[in-house]
Amino acid sequence: MPSIADNIHFFEKKLAGTGARLVAVTKTHPVPLLQEAYAAGSRIFGENRAQEMAEKAPQLPPDVEWHLIGHLQTNKVKYIAPFVHTVQSVDSLRLLQELDRQAARHGRVVRGLLQFHIAREEAKTGLSLAEAEALLASDAFGAMQNVRLTGVMGIATNTADAAQVRQEFGQLRGYFDALKAAHFATDEGFCEISMGMSSDYALALAEGSTLVRVGSAIFGNRG
Ligand SMILES: *Cc1c(COP(=O)(O)O)cnc(C)c1O
Repeated sequence: MPSIADNIHFFEKKLAGTGARLVAVTKTHPVPLLQEAYAAGSRIFGENRAQEMAEKAPQLPPDVEWHLIGHLQTNKVKYIAPFVHTVQSVDSLRLLQELDRQAARHGRVVRGLLQFHIAREEAKTGLSLAEAEALLASDAFGAMQNVRLTGVMGIATNTADAAQVRQEFGQLRGYFDALKAAHFATDEGFCEISMGMSSDYALALAEGSTLVRVGSAIFGNRG
């Protein structure tokens, strides 16, 4: 069986030359596995629960970029505000306001990705383009000093239909392009399209992903 290091090297090779970076999705896995991934070169870790991330973070070296990739409740923001690099799952103005408030308390700027609903599945959360436009146009967003939006994120439908998945990733890229042109044309920091997981990363790369979030293909199935 390939080791965690073998798997990470496999993905680093796949990503070489694409401009995309690997987010090692470490949710549910114990710290020694994260340390193994770190030793193999991983520097971006994705967790989907704030408290789990807050427990693990002090046990890894400080140059890890911690990305929150699951739905974040406003009352959990305080656990990760001292260290989180990017919240990929920004799905409301209210959450962004709490991120701004908590980041300010720590004298930090936290990055955020707007999460879009692209799947043809009810369960998958995220904004519509109209909701994102309203958020970006709001006075509240305009006043924020301690959050910086750096792109978009989405989760495709869990289906074997590659054409559908690719269409959904293309839609997310279209949202990115539209927001970039309308709101971030001169902001080089707005540059991330987080899409693709173990089963669909190749389709996401073909549609211009800059961050692929890979869990089970590196660490095996989650218990
Ligand atoms: C768990 C998760 C992943 C990784 O999924 P795998 O299929 O294990 O690669 C990616 N993105 C999000 C938002 C997740 O919750």
